[in-house]
Amino acid sequence: MSHTIAAIATPQAAGGIGVIRISGPEALQVADQVFRAADGRLLSQSKGYHAHFGRVFNMDGPIDEAIALVFRAPHSYTGEDVVELSCHGGLFLMQQALRAVFCAGASPAGAGEFTKRAFLNGKLDLTQAESVMSLIGAQGGQAARAALSAHDGALSREIRRLSQSLIKAAAHMAAWADYPEEELPELRLDALAGDFDAAKQTLSALLARFDAGRAVTQGVDTVIAGRPNVGKSTLMNLLAGGERSIVTSYAGTTRDIVEETVRLGDLLLHLADTAGLRETEDPVERIGVSRARQRLERAQLILAVFDANEPLTGEDFQLLDACQGRPCVAVVNKSDLPQQLDVAPVRAAVPETVFLSAAQGGGYEALCAAAARVLGTEGFDPAAPLLATERQRDCCRRALACLEEALEAITSGITLDAVTVCTDGAIAALLELTGEKANEAIVDEVFSSFCVGK
Ligand code: GDP
Repeated sequence: MSHTIAAIATPQAAGGIGVIRISGPEALQVADQVFRAADGRLLSQSKGYHAHFGRVFNMDGPIDEAIALVFRAPHSYTGEDVVELSCHGGLFLMQQALRAVFCAGASPAGAGEFTKRAFLNGKLDLTQAESVMSLIGAQGGQAARAALSAHDGALSREIRRLSQSLIKAAAHMAAWADYPEEELPELRLDALAGDFDAAKQTLSALLARFDAGRAVTQGVDTVIAGRPNVGKSTLMNLLAGGERSIVTSYAGTTRDIVEETVRLGDLLLHLADTAGLRETEDPVERIGVSRARQRLERAQLILAVFDANEPLTGEDFQLLDACQGRPCVAVVNKSDLPQQLDVAPVRAAVPETVFLSAAQGGGYEALCAAAARVLGTEGFDPAAPLLATERQRDCCRRALACLEEALEAITSGITLDAVTVCTDGAIAALLELTGEKANEAIVDEVFSSFCVGK
């Protein structure tokens, strides 16, 4: 039987309310030692889903007023008996109360241990557990909806449907191979190949959505590039909604990279406003230019800025070259001024071109739409099944590779044994994805990224 654990479940900062969560077989008895209900009743006598008003005590006397919420196993977050003490959210008070809970016999909870117990007790599978951190970390509506949908089991259901159909196929193959004399339904290889192909399509579609999903949920490393004075800093300030970069009308003001996380429509951009890409004798500026180039090479999205009011220069053409084949939106800025720029070479080099006035804000909506098109996030459905972590993607890739091998084995007429081995490989990868068959090291790895108290 597992021991009883406790931790502060709310942030380690002063707040209106702070919650101490206690979970495990002795949760109610531990809570009884530190909490006295105003009506004198013991929490260990309480029904589940009941709240009690009272005081938290340590050896020296009362610490704080609190509400104790009682959950009875298995109807709790962890599936165990749970008491949540909602105290006043002062850090000192909370630490005193937690210390009293430890003195009463609970052990400190490890990172993610409550959710790990929920997983081990079958309250949620591994993808749902992972979605808890995504929910907590969500920084926008789409990200939050995608995390909630994963928490509701959208991905689990899709993967289970696949693994069950493969398990059925594997069972049929095994029976057919082992009991040829029995009256089994005929094993038709074309039907088997059809099933595998359908599963392959589903996995491929999930993998294809991964990058768009990451863009929506994690944000996109974005570089604003362009020669000096085209309006990069002004654009950054427009996106950030404030005066962040230094804007002057002298070329070369922005010498280094300014980082900012901003929202662009449904997207979260981790933005770097870089130095221009020009040749320069100034050693400090040269470092900035070199960093800008490196950043450009790694960026998931480039906003390449040009000045509508001036013809394209050699440096502009250099930037267009650097943007060829990259996820890039050309931003023709200062569109409030008379147009001197020939837009044809810009349109020829990059997939999306937007006319914008960073100073006045015109063209912002068009920029949102263009960035979404470049990143494949337009029409993104947060309710659809989504691979949310590298771990999930890796399992999915392995399952897909096994299915491809199985199909190859079927079409090239290799023995049924080979098909069975590949099918088993695909099933194992899918069961690892949902955590139905994941080894302890994988489970530990997943929960190690959690915070204490979750
Ligand atoms: P950077 O060197 O590329 O970062 O350029 P800045 O953002 O510092 O802008 C250079 C100059 O262009 C400043 O004087 C800005 O006020 C001006 N500027 C920037 N965007 C616009 C715009 O959309 N329209 C007009 N008319 N001026 C702009």
